[in-house]
Amino acid sequence: MSKVLVLNASYEPLNLTSWRRAVVLLLKGKAEQLEYNGKFIYTDFPLPTVIRLRYYVRVPYKEIPLTRRNILERDSNRCQYCGYKGDQLTLDHVIPRSRGGGDSWENMVAACVRCNVKKGSRTPKEAEMPLARPPRRPYSSLHFELARHIQGERNQEWRKYVIGIP
Ligand SMILES: [Zn+2]
Repeated sequence: MSKVLVLNASYEPLNLTSWRRAVVLLLKGKAEQLEYNGKFIYTDFPLPTVIRLRYYVRVPYKEIPLTRRNILERDSNRCQYCGYKGDQLTLDHVIPRSRGGGDSWENMVAACVRCNVKKGSRTPKEAEMPLARPPRRPYSSLHFELARHIQGERNQEWRKYVIGIP
């Protein structure tokens, strides 16, 4: 069964939950139903896909760690230079380390071995290898998870509640 997107009272995405848990929140009056996908649990009870809490939950900001796995995931496991998708990916410093480029979300991208070697210690401009998109810090780990769920035709009704999904 598909997941349900839970929004905070402020309409910001809060987490994902099971449809059972979502139904409990609805029945207890703790949440309202915003979106359905046309399926029904009972004749007059549509299966929720997005619900919104009636009360505000304070969420502590959690820094998302700069790790190889997270960078590859942010870049959808694609080389940011040639678009190769697969598991033979390396991390490339956009401004090379030898030229003062540091380890940061804005300076590290997924690159295939070929592109990484080809680029060498040059900037993308010098190497004439433009990036697919400018690297940036991800919004949150929840955002990562949401991006995974909103692919193809799936969960299209979530889009309007989630910013920055390509
Ligand atoms: Zn490449």
